[in-house]
Amino acid sequence: MPTKPKPLPFSKPLAGISEKTISIHHDKLYAGYVAKKDEIAGKLAALAKGGDVSTANPTYSELRALKDGETFAVNGVYLHEWYFDVLGGDGKPTGPLADALAKEYGSVDAFVAFMSACAMASRGWTVLAWDTHDKALRIYNGDVHNQGGVWGCLPVIVLDVYEHAYFIDQGSDRKAYLAAFWKNLDWKKANAFYKAAVA
Ligand code: FE
Repeated sequence: MPTKPKPLPFSKPLAGISEKTISIHHDKLYAGYVAKKDEIAGKLAALAKGGDVSTANPTYSELRALKDGETFAVNGVYLHEWYFDVLGGDGKPTGPLADALAKEYGSVDAFVAFMSACAMASRGWTVLAWDTHDKALRIYNGDVHNQGGVWGCLPVIVLDVYEHAYFIDQGSDRKAYLAAFWKNLDWKKANAFYKAAVA
C-alpha cells in the first residue's frame, strides 16, 4: 500500500502565498517525496532481506545511491510536513514559545528578523529547533534536505526557502516571501511543537 500524502492542514490561499504555489508545492513536490520515500524503502527492504549487497562501495554502488536518496526523500517528506503544519495561522506571536524567544533574542521581532536573515543565507531550509543536547532553541540552516540538519534536534518552526516556495508569487524577492511566511505563521501549532519537544 503506497503511503498517502498528508492533506494540507489549512485551506488555500494564504495571505501572499497563492493557491497555485501551495498546490504545486504540496500536491506535486511534497507528494513526489512521499512516493520516492516508499520506492526507496521498498528497494532497501529487498536488499536487506537477502539481496546482493556485495558491491557496496562509498564511491558508487546501488546501495550507496539508495542510502543517499533515502535521507533526501525522508527529510523531503518530514520537512515539508512541518512547514505546512505551521502555516494557516494569524501570525500573532503567543504562548510559551513567544516568551522563550523574547527572552533569548530580546523580543519576538528581533527573533523574526534574525531567523529571516538566516533564511536569506540559506539555499533550502531554515529551522528553529529544540536542541535536546543543549536544551535550548537553536536556528539551523540546511542547503538541501539531507544537509545541515543536526541530529537530536526537534523542529519547532520549519521554513522552506527553496525558490519553488515563492517564485510564482514574489519572483526573486525572497524578503517579501519571508514577510508573507511570518504573516501566516500558526503560533498555536508552533507552541504545540515546542511543548512536545521540551517535554
Ligand atoms: Fe519545498
